[in-house]
Amino acid sequence: MDWLGVRCLVLVIVDSSEGPSGLFNFLVGVDPSPQLHTALAFRQFPGFIIHVPQAWFLPSDGYRKWNIGGNTRKAVFQQRLAAGPKWLTAGPSSARIVETCPSACEPDAVTGDAISNVGWPSALLDMSIHNLSATDRLRSRQPIPAPVPAYLPTAESPLTVDTALYSSAQQAPRVLVEEFTLPIRSGRAWKAPAGSIVRISTPEGPQVGDLNIWNAHNPRERFWASRTRQLHATHVSTYDRLWSCLPYMRPLVTIISDSLAWYGEDEHGGRVHDLLGTRCDPYINTVLSGGEYNFHCHSNLTRAVLPFGLAESDVHDVINIFQVTGLDAKGRYFMNPCPAASGDYLEFLAEQDILMALSTCPGGDLSLWGFGADSEKEMIKCCRPLKVEVFRLADEDFLRKAGWQPAEPSKYEGKHGMTVPGGELGRAGV
Ligand SMILES: [Zn+2]
Repeated sequence: MDWLGVRCLVLVIVDSSEGPSGLFNFLVGVDPSPQLHTALAFRQFPGFIIHVPQAWFLPSDGYRKWNIGGNTRKAVFQQRLAAGPKWLTAGPSSARIVETCPSACEPDAVTGDAISNVGWPSALLDMSIHNLSATDRLRSRQPIPAPVPAYLPTAESPLTVDTALYSSAQQAPRVLVEEFTLPIRSGRAWKAPAGSIVRISTPEGPQVGDLNIWNAHNPRERFWASRTRQLHATHVSTYDRLWSCLPYMRPLVTIISDSLAWYGEDEHGGRVHDLLGTRCDPYINTVLSGGEYNFHCHSNLTRAVLPFGLAESDVHDVINIFQVTGLDAKGRYFMNPCPAASGDYLEFLAEQDILMALSTCPGGDLSLWGFGADSEKEMIKCCRPLKVEVFRLADEDFLRKAGWQPAEPSKYEGKHGMTVPGGELGRAGV
């Protein structure tokens, strides 16, 4: 059969569920040689099976091991199977031929995981992808149970914040260490030690800000917006954490107060403090409008970090604070006007020594946003400053007395299963 333009002579289905209506992982080999070449993995095609009218071959003494979805599934095969459709599924604890082979091609004994003939409905085997239109496939799509969040925090999860502690820290007496007001369409960076509180506010009314965060001592460790989005939500608020990238994977800050938490979800699905989008930048602006403009958030952040020895390449995906965004019915990103009033704020507790950089977005409060020089002139009418304050707790041992410690990197040792040779003599390295 032709699959994506490739003559496929080998197909193995690794079943990740309990039955034909479940979810399948497809491993498609493109080489009829005894070596099964795994070319593509397709997941989550419920309810249909691809018909392969070719023989497939597996190593006579081979050993195949697939590691998919966290479950290691193995199947050990001793012999070839002759022509005709053959279906094999390999589960975490069993492997099985789905269709009974014609007598001429009895499957050989399989060692390792047990294989037995099972009686899935033959009709399923007639469901070839070639016989199904997209409409058919859509119509035959099985109901999907309501999903549960993938990273729902449990009682002992690092995602679960000690809200009593963080609330008491937020309300504890604090001492102002640094403050400044960031003018419109500009950027600035600052450091904040572990255990300090950073407050960013809208002193004159609505204005969105694009925020970057690094480990203060190592700019390779920086905010990872997409992982944070998975761990918490597309829009974050009090007691959500902003996590760092690999190989560090630890909180940079925890949000301890959010005066816009009331906003929730608006009538268009918009929410505030956005992790869906990223900073505005002059490159896409030129692509879209042809013009040149040097005060997009990306540029503002780039200039902001230069005094700290960082460069443009250190600027990364932001959290758009005070910014309302969402996805429309077709999954397209949208931005709604900032709901902040004078004095709205977001407060972060630094979980390690951090460097932050903030841009007052040239889009202002996003009530007039657009692309190109005309929009830049128009949007300045809705631009306002942002205020930054860094505090330390008056009792500097407050957090530690309560058992708080600066965040530790992930304990994964980072070898990814590899053993590095020690040298020419082949001694295993460390
Ligand atoms: Zn911007």
